[in-house]
Amino acid sequence: METKKENPEKKSSSSSSSKKKKGLEIEGYPVEGLSIGGQETCVIFPSLKMAFDIGRCPQRAISQEFLFISHGHMDHIGGLPMYVATRGLYNMKPPTVIVPKSIKENVEKLFEVHRAMDHSELKHNLIGLDVGEELQLRKDLKVRAFRTCHVIASQGYIVYSVKQKLKQEYVGLSGNEIKSLKLSGVEITYTITSPEIAFTGDTTSDFIIDPNNSDVLRARILVMESTFVNDSMTVEHARDYGHTHLSEIVSHADRFENKAILLIHFSARYERDEIQAAVLALPPSLASRVFALTEGI
Ligand SMILES: [Zn+2]
Ligand SMILES: [Zn+2]
Repeated sequence: METKKENPEKKSSSSSSSKKKKGLEIEGYPVEGLSIGGQETCVIFPSLKMAFDIGRCPQRAISQEFLFISHGHMDHIGGLPMYVATRGLYNMKPPTVIVPKSIKENVEKLFEVHRAMDHSELKHNLIGLDVGEELQLRKDLKVRAFRTCHVIASQGYIVYSVKQKLKQEYVGLSGNEIKSLKLSGVEITYTITSPEIAFTGDTTSDFIIDPNNSDVLRARILVMESTFVNDSMTVEHARDYGHTHLSEIVSHADRFENKAILLIHFSARYERDEIQAAVLALPPSLASRVFALTEGI
């Protein structure tokens, strides 16, 4: 028989606050998780209940209701069954898992194999999303997949905030007047969508010059891979393996309109100091808004 465990969200506040100290806060969003190339990537936005990729399954990922998978490499998807199983074990709501449409069938098979082995339900809502397709996550949030360039099928995700605003001509009317206009069928609001977070997963720098990806470069926070950071590896090497070199980010610096850029997926060859030195050496237009996720390095 399955043993139900207590939801980790209900643990004492002291343990959760000590965990929070580990994370970053960027543009008002707490950011947690870790990302090391070839080992594991999981970037978490707890205030949105979202995680991007899940190479292993960090404890903090389990509390997130939405999980976005960029591609099928093990360092990005290996923790998926564990994530779903652990939420089941804690009796938490089945998560929504968004994957590239091209791998959806294989992900379904993966869960079938795990169900056959452990006789649990592994409840979740699996959604395949193609490049350019959108999904409404909540009334005020939607996501769109965008094209990235890796050695296997891959995609990134843009999360948009969706807000209803009162049309200018109705500003200043009383509550009752607005209510009666609304009841009479007049469209009194308009919708503002703004790109909040973009997550690339693994990709060459080619996604930057794709004209369809302009919202990626406008998102408030861009979470972008930068597997290689200095001259110890060449740009050619990065491109051959479907990755980005920090020097390419520098070359494209004027294209990024993002308020903040979080670099992830550093090669395991680097020490934390080396990464920090490379970030400190960035030109001022980037240095003032670039963060590096070095947790676990
Ligand atoms: Zn990777
Ligand atoms: Zn990869």
